[in-house]
Amino acid sequence: MDIFTKFKTLDSAYDKLLSVSKHDPFGTTIEKTLSATTGIIQGKETLLFGTNNYLGLSQSENARKAAAETALQYGVGTTGSRIANGTYSLHQSLERDLADFFNRRSCMVFSTGYQATLGMVSTLAGKDDYLFLDADCHASIYDGSRLSQAQIIRFRHNDADDLRKRLRRLGDIPGIKLIVVEGVYSMFGDIIPLKEFAQVKKEENAYLMIDEAHSFGIFGENGRGIAERDGVEQDVDFTVGTFSKSLGTVGGYCVSDYPQMDMLRLCTRPYMFTASLPPEVIAATRENLKLIKDHPELRDKLRANAERFYHGLQQAGFQTGPDISSVISVILEDVAQAAQFWNKVLELGAYINLSLPPATPDNRPLLRASIAAAHTSEQIDQLLKIYIQAAKDVCLPLK
Ligand code: PMP
Repeated sequence: MDIFTKFKTLDSAYDKLLSVSKHDPFGTTIEKTLSATTGIIQGKETLLFGTNNYLGLSQSENARKAAAETALQYGVGTTGSRIANGTYSLHQSLERDLADFFNRRSCMVFSTGYQATLGMVSTLAGKDDYLFLDADCHASIYDGSRLSQAQIIRFRHNDADDLRKRLRRLGDIPGIKLIVVEGVYSMFGDIIPLKEFAQVKKEENAYLMIDEAHSFGIFGENGRGIAERDGVEQDVDFTVGTFSKSLGTVGGYCVSDYPQMDMLRLCTRPYMFTASLPPEVIAATRENLKLIKDHPELRDKLRANAERFYHGLQQAGFQTGPDISSVISVILEDVAQAAQFWNKVLELGAYINLSLPPATPDNRPLLRASIAAAHTSEQIDQLLKIYIQAAKDVCLPLK
């Protein structure tokens, strides 16, 4: 028995995976990026379909220039926390930009999206409170709920009736009830029926937090996410999200109308006890936020690409998730077959994500593609061809 004994099961599962997978799906290295949609992997030009770079903005010219100029002017790091030496006027400007973008009173910017959800969930819910979490919520939400010491109540994925039942079962108790959901769920790319959830929240006098990590910049007339698309922004108490997807950088945020938000800066540990974002990241994020505002056609292009890929997969007989978003997953049954399929796709020239149980809903392996506005129709068609070829090569039965 040593300190690593507890990892034995993981270790043998990983060994088993590598025995059927020529390339390591969790150790892929992008040797060089060539554009928002292509890069060099294993010395070969590869289509990038597993990046979350939904609007292609990690490569935006404006953001790159702003980052370079800001790094030259301010240096490359703040070397301190937001509550010590790590708040520059740049951080405050980005917070103002985001609050304005969402038409909210305030915004807190965090160093990662993970820390934004971790920080808000763990701080807003105290030990006498109740957290109602969708079964498929992201790890950062579950980790935050453990830190909070609140009682955790899980409800069935995307099922507002199940949530209502559980809230009613709890009855009229002291302690606040905070519901946490996501706009688009990251594994199947399925979308929350948010109007139903907003209704339950109002009926049951609870608070509602939504993580728009995979929907910000993509849904809603202005790109504010599913709450905007469904016309229920006023029923959402806290919106959290990340810069690492449609905004193309790194960082996270929470926006809200509550006047007490500034007080949270003094008690949210994942905000206080970590260094703030480097100035060049802030500058790049501000530029990309402007692009999201000024270029709604990016969202249209992304939607058209996602529809093309989703319908192409369905026509070919693959099993997909229920909705069309920037995440489009093919659902398989067998881990070894999923790993072989992933390898084939890579060998045929495209990089996608392999997601495996226990990190997947229903414990089924997923081949997850992230579709971007920057992909051309030809690249989408090429990926479809690759999937069909890979399915043949690994004898995957299609519908
Ligand atoms: N929330 C959700 C729903 C996510 O999918 C992710 C990342 N995949 C995060 C939060 C964390 O964001 P980041 O990677 O930017 O820290």
